[in-house]
Amino acid sequence: MEFNDLQKRVIDTATSYGKKYDITMDEDFALLKLYEEVGEFAQAVLIHRKKSRPEKHVAKDVSKMKLADELADVVGIAILNAHLLGIDLEEAISNKWRGAY
Ligand SMILES: [Mg+2]
Repeated sequence: MEFNDLQKRVIDTATSYGKKYDITMDEDFALLKLYEEVGEFAQAVLIHRKKSRPEKHVAKDVSKMKLADELADVVGIAILNAHLLGIDLEEAISNKWRGAY
């Protein structure tokens, strides 16, 4: 899948989510949501590494899947932030992460 296609899918999904739950997808929402998703990713890492309460522990393959889901949420909401701020994220990543430091 091309990055532009992924961006479009993320924005379409976020737009549908906003309509379904009557939430305005503005820059404030997107920024706070990014913090929420980073927190969920951190929680998933803690659970995956069994650095959480034992009742939260699950099989490694399950916790690994949750890690992937939450990291995907972080990237998805980063894409939403970029869209709302008028940033071409593909170009920004390409410029910022050009390697050879
Ligand atoms: Mg999440």
